[in-house]
Amino acid sequence: MDNGESARKLESAAALCGARLCAVRARIVSACGEAGRDPDSVQLLAVSKTFDAGAVRALAAAGQRAFGENYLQESLEKMTALADLPLTWHFIGPIQSNKTRPIAENFAWAHSVDRLRVAERLSAQRPSGLAPLQVCIEVNVSGEASKGGVAPPDLPALADVVAMLRGLRLRGLMAIPAPTPDPAAQRAAFRQVRELFDDLNSRGHALDTLSMGMSADLESAILEGATIVRVGTALFGERNYTHA
Ligand SMILES: *Cc1c(COP(=O)(O)O)cnc(C)c1O
Repeated sequence: MDNGESARKLESAAALCGARLCAVRARIVSACGEAGRDPDSVQLLAVSKTFDAGAVRALAAAGQRAFGENYLQESLEKMTALADLPLTWHFIGPIQSNKTRPIAENFAWAHSVDRLRVAERLSAQRPSGLAPLQVCIEVNVSGEASKGGVAPPDLPALADVVAMLRGLRLRGLMAIPAPTPDPAAQRAAFRQVRELFDDLNSRGHALDTLSMGMSADLESAILEGATIVRVGTALFGERNYTHA
């Protein structure tokens, strides 16, 4: 592809992305209206897992800056390919304790911290020349044993220790409740997360981030106080996991 052709391809991809981005932003603004919240209080995190660097570049051309990734190798390749862009990268996938170093070295945020060993390693491995890694503790409010996240009764003790780690800055909580089409059930799960968040703040924490809500339930999450919604499908289309 010559430069002119690749520029034209980027332009047409950016136009499609721009339309999807507009639609998602409109959903956020509308949910904020219903919740009586300032739309600027909700940040859109574009979840680009399984999509290639070209797809991220097109969404970036449409104005998106914050991107969320789940798979380490895939995300590092994209970061290298997109190093010319002013993007902020958030790690949102399960964190294995033997894979903490590249997360500590390459990401601005990690949303899925759910145990002490992982938090300690991320902190120790965060390069001193970088700002602390911004972290959320993932909490499991659905009680699904197969899912990541700390159980609510264990959250306060974990938060107390994570808040003390020098290489990290504890910003808030993240949750992925069990999917349900019922808005009342969606809200009940998100409300539980917000109550845990309020409880930590009443115990002396200064958390400002609730990372919750995805393509199918971002309105419910915003009504319950989400400050970051993590949206993949509604921005990029359906994922094809055979390449992941
Ligand atoms: C994939 C993923 C998302 C995005 O989900 P969509 O339903 O595609 O919007 C959000 N958060 C996490 C943790 C994910 O793994």
